[in-house]
Amino acid sequence: MPAPDGSPSQDQLTRRLTVLSGPSGVGKSTVVAEIRRAHPQVWLSVSVTTRSPRPGEKHGVQYFFVDDAGFDRLVAEGELLEWAEFAGNRYGTPRGPVQERLARGEPVLLEIDLQGARQVRHSMPDARLVFLAPPSWDELVRRLVGRGTEPPEVIERRLEAARVELAAEKEFDVTLVNTAVTDVCRDLLALMRR
Ligand code: 5GP
Repeated sequence: MPAPDGSPSQDQLTRRLTVLSGPSGVGKSTVVAEIRRAHPQVWLSVSVTTRSPRPGEKHGVQYFFVDDAGFDRLVAEGELLEWAEFAGNRYGTPRGPVQERLARGEPVLLEIDLQGARQVRHSMPDARLVFLAPPSWDELVRRLVGRGTEPPEVIERRLEAARVELAAEKEFDVTLVNTAVTDVCRDLLALMRR
């Protein structure tokens, strides 16, 4: 419903917010990278994290890399729309840039974990929650191990989190199965433009 003055209501605005979630290793960041490459006009929120950069990751591109004190400060000042601890590091979505875009009626895409998706569901019930599922459990393990970016104990923690995340699929509005990145990108963009 539009507001009485004719401007879009909060519900209409948050309907422009799409959350992409799913287990670690399922290929969320590959999907996001492909959208960045092929559709640079689509705005993606850049999260803040206390995790160290992986080779090739740049501050302000994949993430804003901060230390624990910096993250604490953002939380204390209410600067994060949502945040969560994941496999020993903290991750959060800066609130300001998201709200600016939604206020302009522009579509916004967040790539966040299950705990963050639940917070958004709570604070913005009209947001669209998309679950990215692996074609199978074995394929997820293969991708997470094959990525070669994490030591075995970190992989084990991420697989543990993945079991929990897979069980939450029914909380989402839509499931996309990541059999081919280009298909997922096409379907995700179609959802965002609806
Ligand atoms: P990675 O360390 O592999 O880049 O990300 C680990 C997990 O953190 C992924 O599931 C990713 O979706 C999630 N993540 C990234 N940014 C955010 C964020 O801003 N908030 C939350 N809640 N999760 C995030």
